[in-house]
Amino acid sequence: MSLYSTEPVRFDAIIVGAGVGGLYAIHRLRKLGLRVRAFEAGGGVGGTWYWNRYPGCRCDVESLEYSYAFSDELQQEWHWPERYGTQPEILRYINHVADRFDLRRDIEFNTRVKEAVFDNRTDTWTIKTDKGKTATARYCIMATGNLSTPRKPNIAGLESFQGKWYHTGLWPHEGVDFTGLRVGVIGTGSSGVQSIPIIAKQAKHLYVFQRTANFSLPARNVPMPPDKERAHKADYPARRRAAYDTPFGIAGHPPPVKSALEATEEERRRAYEAKWTEGGSISFLYSYTDLLVNKESNDTASEFVRRKIRATVKDPKTAELLCPNDHPIGTKRLILDTEYYETYNRENVTLVDIRGNPIKEITPAGLRTADAEYALDAIVFATGFDAMTGAMKEIDIRAGLSIREKWEHGPRTYLGIMIAGFPNLFMITGPQSPGVKSQMILACEQHVDWIADCMQYLHAHGFSHIEAEQDAEDAWVRHNNEVADRTLYPLANSWYVGANIPGKPRVFMPYVGGVTAYKKKCDEVAANGYEGFRFGVSIEEQRFAAN
Ligand code: NAP
Repeated sequence: MSLYSTEPVRFDAIIVGAGVGGLYAIHRLRKLGLRVRAFEAGGGVGGTWYWNRYPGCRCDVESLEYSYAFSDELQQEWHWPERYGTQPEILRYINHVADRFDLRRDIEFNTRVKEAVFDNRTDTWTIKTDKGKTATARYCIMATGNLSTPRKPNIAGLESFQGKWYHTGLWPHEGVDFTGLRVGVIGTGSSGVQSIPIIAKQAKHLYVFQRTANFSLPARNVPMPPDKERAHKADYPARRRAAYDTPFGIAGHPPPVKSALEATEEERRRAYEAKWTEGGSISFLYSYTDLLVNKESNDTASEFVRRKIRATVKDPKTAELLCPNDHPIGTKRLILDTEYYETYNRENVTLVDIRGNPIKEITPAGLRTADAEYALDAIVFATGFDAMTGAMKEIDIRAGLSIREKWEHGPRTYLGIMIAGFPNLFMITGPQSPGVKSQMILACEQHVDWIADCMQYLHAHGFSHIEAEQDAEDAWVRHNNEVADRTLYPLANSWYVGANIPGKPRVFMPYVGGVTAYKKKCDEVAANGYEGFRFGVSIEEQRFAAN
């Protein structure tokens, strides 16, 4: 159904980003007969898995789940060597997908999209790249990722530092050898917690600069048991379908049946202990029905983990510093680790509390806090990302109004897929969709399928544009907030609310009503003739038709 068969310089759809979402979009839209072109800032496919090459980087969703479902041949033939995929393994898989489905021929690598402007006369988007190239298409799909804009804090003196510094989200491809070095890691989110145990094994001394303690559970990674792989693969289609009937888009965990407060203390201890031994964050949060909605229930789980930290870390002062006390467990991304807390028992590891004694400056020789100086040869910023809105706001997206203006006080979307005032602009796992609160590849596939069906609908009805209605967007944003307010999530100063970026408006960004409810809503909207969207024909095409 190509829209521009006589104008080869134009594309039907431009896709920004060639991570897991962008790649599937290329494949799916090509199948519709559309001419697509993807632009990717990196030198290869993979998005987050291309950039985040820090030591210990690994997915916190099990590999048999964290993979594409769109091709049964693909999911049958790929062998995951471990329970949780490492970054190199996942990147190998994504490269395999790109080759197997011949996706690279439609991707321009090392090319960053700087501007995207909509022309409502022709109903087309024109993008400009950092290579000075221009391209035009009817549809523009932002597959720009939610955690793709790395941010390091503005600490005075970094430019004077005589050692080397790194950001976990922009890790050198050749790797970094910390052997014999004095290393400082700033940040104890997932990236810090995963990299700290590995860096500690190499470094002469490792200083961990912690502002806020986070909850982390043991991943219990193991080589993939062959019988588990065989059983999973035999049942793959049913498991993939079942994943949509779960809150986080991950099947295989029996749903909880009762509140934590309905169990005795001994029952709770046994339940949490079993989950702790089994490993995994979803299964832990599935211990009881109300861990994410009832503070009293949550306290029981939070305290269980604090007790584990105290039992693991030998120095009581360090243990206490590592005990999170400012948010309920699960309201920030619950981290999975391998020997994180044990690492603090090493002689060569020091935990530095920068909440009490903030970092003042980076010096040529290291780092100075309010009360001490640390000599360092290398600094690792594990300080996170301008999450969910950062990548879109870095591009000058305009349809009259700009995205930067529209989202000045926080993101506003309809279903996390489209934005009122921005026709024909689709997002894959945009803000106010469950993306980051679910199995991300499933979330990408669901969005791409929805978008592809929507494009077919437009084509079949002779429309050249679709746009979210303002009322529908307002109602969705309201619903998003209401759902979040019924949970404990807003209690945490997390990147879910933009708290990690100074000056970013505090708005709860992901949809936490669960994958099941969300997908049902998306399907209903489509079945009802794309309720909440309006359609039309461009001025140019109307004129053409009139002549
Ligand atoms: P993050 O969760 O945002 O953690 C950033 C860390 O840096 C926090 O400890 C934060 O402290 C600290 N920090 C930020 N600015 C600072 C400053 N100015 N001074 C001192 N400390 C500062 O980032 P992340 O660890 O990169 O993880 C982001 C998300 O990526 C995760 O939540 C997860 O969704 C995803 N991820 C997943 C995996 C996985 O699948 N296993 C691995 C890595 C990342 P405060 O808390 O005090 O702000």
